[in-house]
Amino acid sequence: MIHVQQFTKRYGTFEAVKNISFSVKEGAFFALLGPNGAGKSTTIETLATLKSKQAGSLHINGYEIGQDDEAIRQSIGLVFQYSVLDKELTGRENLHLRGRFYGLDKDTLTAKIQELETILGLTPFVDQRVKTLSGGQRRKLDIARALIHSPKLLMLDEPTTGLDPKSRQDLWHLILTLKEATNMTLLLTTHYMEEAASADHVIILHQGKIVAEDTADQLRLTYAKDTLKLYPKDGCEAALNEAGVVFVKQNDTLNVAVKDAFEGHALVSQFKAHLVSFEMHKASLDDVFLNLTGEVFQGGHHG
Ligand code: ADP
Ligand code: MG
Repeated sequence: MIHVQQFTKRYGTFEAVKNISFSVKEGAFFALLGPNGAGKSTTIETLATLKSKQAGSLHINGYEIGQDDEAIRQSIGLVFQYSVLDKELTGRENLHLRGRFYGLDKDTLTAKIQELETILGLTPFVDQRVKTLSGGQRRKLDIARALIHSPKLLMLDEPTTGLDPKSRQDLWHLILTLKEATNMTLLLTTHYMEEAASADHVIILHQGKIVAEDTADQLRLTYAKDTLKLYPKDGCEAALNEAGVVFVKQNDTLNVAVKDAFEGHALVSQFKAHLVSFEMHKASLDDVFLNLTGEVFQGGHHG
């Protein structure tokens, strides 16, 4: 569905995206994960034909960006990082306007809005003026607007950023539901690690470069280790040293990096006599990012 080869984008002399390549299969749920400034919006907006490139080739649905832009615009829906609704109009009026922009006839448009109302749960507020709506409600309307012409590919740029935790969760659930209901290809950008973790496929962008690409589980396996935290009794350190087990002391615990919970379990059995208790900590994508870049991920964990 998406094919990006050696894509580079400069703003003046500043290289925002540096020679990246990736492909997205039809029906996939693909996440571009990276901190602010990584180049996520630049990439997605270039794919949406809104920005020009300096080098490389980008194809969507078989069409080349820069050559077949009109066909590409028909194939994609884009939800921007910031709402593009007309705040003086109602949600329904915004959707009508967008539908006419795509040349949908009245019956098709009415049926489509009805369908989106149901899938996205717009009914309670679709006839209110946008300026009276909450951030979460506006975002749902933005998504409806992007879907009005039934695109094969939906691209969302940080769809949950700026929402309160409850609305974020609702919207995220909605995106997953939409994915199930339509089998559309989804490409989204996020700086929330836990959102990327539920995608089929993740690209980690850092300073305009792809630093890793895989499923979230595989990224964790490849680039981060789980941690076994041991709460020791006297003699535990000596026993570990004698067995050649490498550990790091941290406050009350002795931490051992392990491949997975099974390896942790085996160690717990072996040293049970020396332990008060233990905990297993599964590696997160944050650990992956830290290990890949040497930097702590500056994403939005709490907000
Ligand atoms: P992200 O969406 O991952 O936060 P962006 O693609 O928006 O990143 O930006 C990538 C880099 O390019 C940033 O350093 C940003 O400051 C820079 N940048 C983005 N847009 C412009 C622009 N129009 N002019 C100059 N620099 C820009
Ligand atoms: Mg952005």
